[in-house]
Amino acid sequence: MTRVVVLLGPPGAGKGTQAARLAAAMALPHVSTGDLFRAHLSRGTELGKEAQRYMEAGELVPDELVLDMLFERVAKEDCREGYLLDGFPRTLAQAEALEARLGEEVARCAVLIDVPDEEIVARMAGRLTCEQCGAVYHRRNDPPKVEGRCDRCGGTLIQRPDDREDVVRERLGVYRRQTTPVVEFYRAKGVLREVDGRRSPDAVFADLQAVLGGCF
Ligand code: AMP
Repeated sequence: MTRVVVLLGPPGAGKGTQAARLAAAMALPHVSTGDLFRAHLSRGTELGKEAQRYMEAGELVPDELVLDMLFERVAKEDCREGYLLDGFPRTLAQAEALEARLGEEVARCAVLIDVPDEEIVARMAGRLTCEQCGAVYHRRNDPPKVEGRCDRCGGTLIQRPDDREDVVRERLGVYRRQTTPVVEFYRAKGVLREVDGRRSPDAVFADLQAVLGGCF
């Protein structure tokens, strides 16, 4: 049976970290539209250049650009048994397009990891991302072994331009406006589960595993 997991939550709720751990535990590919855009950007593609101006302003990339890129990715062989979506869908139109594509025979579960805005701003200010492989660290909560270097690949750690405080506040506003309808969409379908994202990464992970275990 094909299984699709949709992870929802504000930017900075820990979706990326949890998605990577869950993907490994469930043996499903982790598909992040933010990572796909950043990969386009570093390859210098037209799509990457077009997405960049939205990303740097903390705004959403237009749906048509996101949908083509996402559907191309999940059509690949490694997604045949299912996949874990991180950062998609972010608008009602994206959620509806995904539903239309999945059809009836695919099991899906949407999990909301929620965290209050002020905690997110505090978290993001310390977030560091590997320029090379995308791994995420935190200056205080999850520092790398060697300052400024990725534990996994040795790449340089940077603050993403969209993790600056003013941009974070803009992204939170965008999330509350555009993605709340997505949460309500899954709630109305009866496939929404919720997890408290304020606790430690291990506690959140344990909750996610329990919730998903009950889902599939
Ligand atoms: P993320 O790494 O998920 O926080 O995404 C970084 C940025 O990429 C977002 O702030 C958006 O500009 C863009 N982006 C990622 N996923 C989407 C999506 N599903 N819809 C629109 N824009 C997206």
